[in-house]
Amino acid sequence: MIVSREVTFKAYHSHHGMLFEPNHPHDFSVVIGIEGECNEEGFVCDYRAVKRTFNRLIKKRLHEQNLDLLFEFPTSENLAKWIWNELKIFYPLSFIEVREKAHSRAVYREAKI
Ligand SMILES: [Zn+2]
Repeated sequence: MIVSREVTFKAYHSHHGMLFEPNHPHDFSVVIGIEGECNEEGFVCDYRAVKRTFNRLIKKRLHEQNLDLLFEFPTSENLAKWIWNELKIFYPLSFIEVREKAHSRAVYREAKI
């Protein structure tokens, strides 16, 4: 079973190189995909706990920040991979999706070992 919790944060970034854009804000959406078996009550995880973990580990560090100062290339792709690495010890992740806008998304996942 795969379940997911969507969370948000606001941050700023720019792009250099081929997709050059000056610094601008986004309301980022992050979808945290978790894969596991249902417990006896029919749940895979506590969505509230997922949000609390995200807020404590990720949002606290990124919200209202200039991502240019934190990442060499602060793209949605790199954010998805970074968030995966921050959360992977807490949850059996299936995927991490990052959206800058509703129509564009980057999804990171790793092959199961
Ligand atoms: Zn952007």
